[in-house]
Amino acid sequence: MRPVFDAHADTLSRLQRRGGDLLENDGHFDLRRAEAYGPAAQFFAAYGFDFEVLGPLARRLFAAHDDRVVLCRTAGEARRAGAESRLAAFLSLEGAEVVGCDETRLRAAWEQGARMVGLTWNHDNALAGGVGGAGGGLTPRGASFLRLARSLPMIIDVSHLSDRSFWDVAEAMEGTPFVASHSNARAVCDHPRNLTDGQFAALVSADGFAGINLYTVFLTAGETAAWEDVGAHIEHFAALGGVRHIGLGCDFDGCAQLPAGVRGIEDLGALYEWLLRKNYPEDTVRGIFYHNILRVVERICDM
Ligand SMILES: [Zn+2]
Repeated sequence: MRPVFDAHADTLSRLQRRGGDLLENDGHFDLRRAEAYGPAAQFFAAYGFDFEVLGPLARRLFAAHDDRVVLCRTAGEARRAGAESRLAAFLSLEGAEVVGCDETRLRAAWEQGARMVGLTWNHDNALAGGVGGAGGGLTPRGASFLRLARSLPMIIDVSHLSDRSFWDVAEAMEGTPFVASHSNARAVCDHPRNLTDGQFAALVSADGFAGINLYTVFLTAGETAAWEDVGAHIEHFAALGGVRHIGLGCDFDGCAQLPAGVRGIEDLGALYEWLLRKNYPEDTVRGIFYHNILRVVERICDM
């Protein structure tokens, strides 16, 4: 079986907004379709609603389908879930707004299982400048929030930060791994949500990770995308020496347009086969599909 560990999906927000179940739905991700993969793991992001709303929703959904999915906090737990043929479900916070940029609520979210946090979504907040904001960096309050998040520990996600915030956070990480859970290469598709070569190099030198985002506007300036466009980002990051530091950050249920013919999680197998046809060694492809993000989870969360 092909493994899959995707670093970012907005499925919880979609189910909260529109209703529906995790077992089967008409979005990009459900448990039935994820069963084509093993071991399988998924970071479910809290976005657009307070974590105090989406955390309990996640617990209800996971409990209702506990034969197929289990909340995980460590790489060890994810491996165990894989051995039981269950999806390893991780929780992340997409922007500290979902805990009101508040350290007490961050700690509570960690206690409820959240293991990854981005300081901002696109907008500036009390902690840092976001990618769609005025260009500011990390604030003193943000530096304190970041210290707490690291100490819990949580994985730090830079995907939606402004460039200045990126570099402030990168410096504050002191060489320990951090991630861009769903960000592509700006040299391939010139979008501020994508990483510059220098930013990707900083992630690599910190033994971090970047998840390839399947949202068409982050893949290409064209109207539609194909696996070739996804491959161009992978190839670019690989050429920068980072093939062990990339993986999947598909943005399922959070993006308006996937590559042509891609319906959701069920079609990732086609990308796996496409990479093999492009002569990527299967070990490398398995790294991209699963092990590269698992390694970061292990280094940060398995203490
Ligand atoms: Zn996002």
